[in-house]
Amino acid sequence: MTTTSWHERAGSLQIDGRAFIGGERVWAKSEQQFENLSPIDGRKLGMVARCDGADVDLAVAAARTAFEDRRWAGKSPAQRKRTLIKFADLVQKYGPELALLETLDMGKPIKYSQSVDVGATANCLRWYGEAIDKIYDEIAPTAANSLALITREPVGVVAAIVPWNYPMIMAAWKIAPALAAGNSVVLKPSEKSPLTALRLAEIALEAGIPPGVFNVLPGYGHEAGAALGLHMDVDCIGFTGSTRVGKQILQMAGQSNLKRAWTELGGKSANIVCADCPDLDKAVQAAIGSIYFNQGESCNAPSRLFVEASIKEQFLEKAMAMMPDFQPGDPLDENTVMGAIVDATQLKTVMGYIEAGKSGGAKLLSGGRQARTDTGGYYVEPTLFDQVDSGMTIAREEIFGPVLSVLSFTDVKDAVRQANATPYGLQAAVWTADISKAIQTSRALRAGTVHVNQYDGDDITVPFGGYKQSGNGRDKSLHAFDKYTELKTTWIQIG
Ligand code: NAD
Repeated sequence: MTTTSWHERAGSLQIDGRAFIGGERVWAKSEQQFENLSPIDGRKLGMVARCDGADVDLAVAAARTAFEDRRWAGKSPAQRKRTLIKFADLVQKYGPELALLETLDMGKPIKYSQSVDVGATANCLRWYGEAIDKIYDEIAPTAANSLALITREPVGVVAAIVPWNYPMIMAAWKIAPALAAGNSVVLKPSEKSPLTALRLAEIALEAGIPPGVFNVLPGYGHEAGAALGLHMDVDCIGFTGSTRVGKQILQMAGQSNLKRAWTELGGKSANIVCADCPDLDKAVQAAIGSIYFNQGESCNAPSRLFVEASIKEQFLEKAMAMMPDFQPGDPLDENTVMGAIVDATQLKTVMGYIEAGKSGGAKLLSGGRQARTDTGGYYVEPTLFDQVDSGMTIAREEIFGPVLSVLSFTDVKDAVRQANATPYGLQAAVWTADISKAIQTSRALRAGTVHVNQYDGDDITVPFGGYKQSGNGRDKSLHAFDKYTELKTTWIQIG
């Protein structure tokens, strides 16, 4: 599809911002709404329901009824599998529309909304659908006169709260395993990018997921989100977002019904390139490509780059040569690789960090300014700081924008010490031709995922999550079922 036709389609797209409760599109009980603006050009896309506690009560009641009458949980795993696979097929069928909504709503390039976001969402739904009828329960090795069955049951009503950076994928990582396991779900997308989640709910209904099983409530975090966190009839909450709010979610669980609370939080991932890196060009491409992908708005972006001092100059020369490739462009142009920052608030945050980098003494090598200011949208140049020190704000705090901080080291153990000197522990990488060094470094890095001689390892089959304040849960892979199921032991006397 050409750029013009993406623009044409955008112009004629119908935006429906109503919530989805019990299988129906509804406005908030309070009738409150909020404006949904596109970060591409600041244009108003439409109005969205501003759900609050009253709507949360309705959605949780709908989910509870659906769970209790077993309209979904009572289906066989093979039946749920068929429905989830149909759901995945429909996501692909409506792929262009979903990709366009995602790009308009959060500013990422249409090229990636189509190839990454739609593809990964469909794949995730299909994979958990395929998985659910291949998991067996257990019989414990107890005494001869008894039988102890260990079975998995759905936990009940699952609340899922997700961020704005990969709206569909983050939703899919929660809803696919939760639905596959037989739960009912209430999803709250970010107020900054609610549109694809709402459309997913309609598509789920079309696929055959019964009304009430999957509900979507758009709204603000302190209203709809907090009401879910504190709700006495939500059995489990899966949260992806900032570490600050993740801590509140755990507190809310403790203050209310001790609902199972799983958190997937922020990151400040370290990418360590040693002088014996086997392929420097590949290391440069991975470092630059990964930090600027999705405008730097990725939890696992390798935002701290540690380069061994003896190769730093060479590395930076190659990196600088790549910077023109990442200049922000029109997100609806299929050639664009870096789009718009999600909103004015995030733009201000990112620019504030760039100022902190400059005033903190780091050397600005590239970027550092807003771009495409005549569009009315929010764009930032790919920004590269050299001579960053571990104590600087830009090396300590998650920026969540296209800003790379370069640090150097002479001893890899020191690089690891600095890499670990952060409250976060989501991902890390090491580049070296020495297998022992790679394994020792990987073992020493306190992160949920460590890449060796790459940064793009990603597959639905592997868990994704963090150590330390990057969260306590794991999305993706079969391990995600642990979050959305209870283990039950049934003892049977047999003689
Ligand atoms: P955020 O914490 O501000 O918001 C996340 C979600 O929580 C949104 O839906 C928001 O409305 C809701 N929320 C906000 N305040 C709330 C409250 N008081 N109670 C309940 N819900 C509330 O985060 P964000 O800005 O949307 O997303 C960026 C963050 O997400 C970054 O820190 C990023 O690293 C993290 N993230 C982590 C992962 C991961 O898998 N670890 C993936 C993507 C993003």
